[in-house]
Amino acid sequence: MSVVLVTGGAGYIGSHACKVLAQNGFTPVTVDNLSTGWAQAVKFGPFEQGDLQDRARLDEIFAKHKPVAVMHFAAFSQVGESMSDPGLYWRNNVGGSLTLIEAAVAAGCQNFVFSSTCATYGEQDGVALTEDSVQMPINAYGASKRAIEDILTNFEASHGLNHVIFRYFNVAGADPDGEVGEFHQPETHLIPLVLDAVEGKRDALTIYGTDYDTPDGTCIRDYVHVMDLVDAHVLGLNWLLDGKGSAAFNLGTGTGFSVREVVDASGAITNKPVPMIEGERRAGDCTKLVSGSEKARDQLGWDPKRSKMDAMVRDAWRWHQNGHYDR
Ligand code: UDP
Repeated sequence: MSVVLVTGGAGYIGSHACKVLAQNGFTPVTVDNLSTGWAQAVKFGPFEQGDLQDRARLDEIFAKHKPVAVMHFAAFSQVGESMSDPGLYWRNNVGGSLTLIEAAVAAGCQNFVFSSTCATYGEQDGVALTEDSVQMPINAYGASKRAIEDILTNFEASHGLNHVIFRYFNVAGADPDGEVGEFHQPETHLIPLVLDAVEGKRDALTIYGTDYDTPDGTCIRDYVHVMDLVDAHVLGLNWLLDGKGSAAFNLGTGTGFSVREVVDASGAITNKPVPMIEGERRAGDCTKLVSGSEKARDQLGWDPKRSKMDAMVRDAWRWHQNGHYDR
């Protein structure tokens, strides 16, 4: 079976990707330093503990497993943290990716699927963002991901590295089978925090800003189900293996939900009140990030059928009540 090296395979999205890769006949080999991931989330293939900035370790892993492709998920991904400690994002995300890309090219592994983000687009006056929109990140997280996109472009020109870039909108939900799910410590993402507040694991959800220029004053995001997201990765992988060349795709639904709408949907699904506080804006947040993602549908045949808000909250809630990992 063809091996795919999955960096960050012990994390939220990477662990779901390993599951669908295994279902599609690939062997997912997880490379993860467990800085934020969980060994218990590595269930669908071998695990190689290692850091992406450790070139010798990467060379060893490429030589041992001879992957046909890399799926690169491992990264720090918190907008707020990237504003308070940008160096962390440049060193870990950009430095780690550069080392990984160099190791892949040196090993002759020329197919690379990269997790980028809608945060590379930045604040753009509420328009639907397409792959051709200008990329003007307003936080260090987005800037680090855009830099990695540039590295991939350069390595394609110089070394023929074929790559598919996926620019994710907001990823939510969990594996409906409950084998893997979203579990961060500390948690910073909206839906799990809402569910924590519902369960009394925290006193209340703080809404970060109620004075944005949106109908209800809170930020608007485009949420996509993690299982739909990882399905797109298998399509992107096959696109590369079929020799179709490098491309970038947005992964979102084109529908935006405000923070208040997410809170309301969560209250309805859980049938419980959501304690909340109206707080200050969080540094680095854009007002509205909503995708145009026709390209992924038209060219990859992607069908984000599970990405309805109710289904995402329901799957997240099921996991939230039953699933967790421990160190
Ligand atoms: N958000 C919030 N309270 C929280 C966490 C997030 O109001 O405790 C808001 C945040 O400002 C953003 C949206 O929820 O508008 C989604 O944030 P998240 O951190 O989940 O993802 P991001 O958009 O930063 O990738």
